[in-house]
Amino acid sequence: MIKQLNPPRRILMGPGPSDVHPAVLQSMATPLLGHLDPAFLEIMNETMDLLRQVYQTENKVTLAMSGTGSAGMETLFVNLVEPGDKVIIGVNGLFGQRMVDVALRCGAEVIQVEGAWGDIIRPEKVEEVLQQHKDIKLVAVVHAETSTGVRQPLQELSEIVHRHHALFVCDMVTSIGGIPTKIDEYGIDAAYSGTQKCLSAPPGLAPVTLSPRALEVSANRKSKVQSWYLDLSMIQNYWGEERFYHHTAPITMIYSLRKALRLIVDEGLENVFHRHALYGRALHAGLEAMGLELLVNEKHRLHQLTAVRIPTNIQDVEVRKRLLQKYGLEIGGGLGELKGKIWRIGLMGYNARQENVTYALAAIEDVLREHGYHFISGAALEAANRYIRENE
Ligand SMILES: *Cc1c(COP(=O)(O)O)cnc(C)c1O
Repeated sequence: MIKQLNPPRRILMGPGPSDVHPAVLQSMATPLLGHLDPAFLEIMNETMDLLRQVYQTENKVTLAMSGTGSAGMETLFVNLVEPGDKVIIGVNGLFGQRMVDVALRCGAEVIQVEGAWGDIIRPEKVEEVLQQHKDIKLVAVVHAETSTGVRQPLQELSEIVHRHHALFVCDMVTSIGGIPTKIDEYGIDAAYSGTQKCLSAPPGLAPVTLSPRALEVSANRKSKVQSWYLDLSMIQNYWGEERFYHHTAPITMIYSLRKALRLIVDEGLENVFHRHALYGRALHAGLEAMGLELLVNEKHRLHQLTAVRIPTNIQDVEVRKRLLQKYGLEIGGGLGELKGKIWRIGLMGYNARQENVTYALAAIEDVLREHGYHFISGAALEAANRYIRENE
């Protein structure tokens, strides 16, 4: 006999998935509609409208690809890149590396512009490469590098890229619904994201948005898009006026995305961003008051994902295991060159609340004390609460 499904209760404060909003979970228990039912097509239209608001764009082609955030990444590369195209990719963490892998599989000639893990991509370094090569098709960077907690400034970079007539592509998997994405204001030509980070829906959809200019580049391809499933010309015919069957939309996931987006729009985008900033910074203050060091300097630090250095003589895996066992609290470890060196704590979407800050700080204090780390007891909560009081 296989026993009943009974997953333990967790608080998901790692790099994703993050906890799903209860109202979003509820939306997923709604009966299915046929994927070409007029009532469902209406729901798709509403989802696109809401996505435009949350992405901060008027782009007509703003829709959700079936698949997780990585499918969004692959969608943009397979549609925009043809074999032999030259692209620049900013690499300052794991997701930049993944873009390189995906672009190479599309047959692109990839030029990497590197930044230290924990630092941004310097716009002047990108400009240097653009000056050396006159035929760069696109430049891609990660807006919120979840592997390090770095927030990449976009505006100056966007101006540089456009001065050199290339497309500007951004990974916004962890930024959407957490920090402003300003697609139109910054002139971002194409972006992709995921549902499982700050949108507080389960993993499973990848919202993408493409400017008319990016669509034109894609429409003028010489070769067919390598992927049938991710070919936007066909996907557009399903989400657009034609409503041609392509593949069956994951109905329940679209319910969940629509609900998650509505919660954000109802709360107000600015309020949502303020909430992430308030509690993110409170967490930073708390961790520092415990004597811990944050990986990223204050200027480029994300609110929704915090990388904190593991103190010397403290065991990475032991501490995380204990947090999970004793408190049901999941935080993330480091990836790549930061493996064993940092922890990653998420305060994404529904979890960006005072009770999560308090709970995480108290749990981390307790478990670090068990492991022999010395600090002033209670200082973390005091600092976090003071920050919230003074900035609410
Ligand atoms: C999580 C994440 C991805 C990948 O998303 P999946 O949902 O795991 O496929 C890509 N880029 C960034 C910045 C992410 O944080």
